[in-house]
Amino acid sequence: MDTGYAYVGILPCGCCVAIASDKPECKDVLAEELGKWVLAGLTVERKPVEWARANFRECTHKAAPKPDRPQLFPAPAEGA
Ligand SMILES: [Zn+2]
Repeated sequence: MDTGYAYVGILPCGCCVAIASDKPECKDVLAEELGKWVLAGLTVERKPVEWARANFRECTHKAAPKPDRPQLFPAPAEGA
């Protein structure tokens, strides 16, 4: 019977990019791991293992970097 649950980390774009087992033997590292996910900006949810397997994927959305806006400082006066 494979009705276990897993913790998944979901990006703001909806991609499930992290999975952690909900097994008792993983409990020690789990809290630490989930803490890292939250710090990384992931939404942590508890899902059926089947859901996690079906939705786990690499994010292909990678937030487009904001274009660098040139800084318009006044040109330094040359000489005196
Ligand atoms: Zn994505």
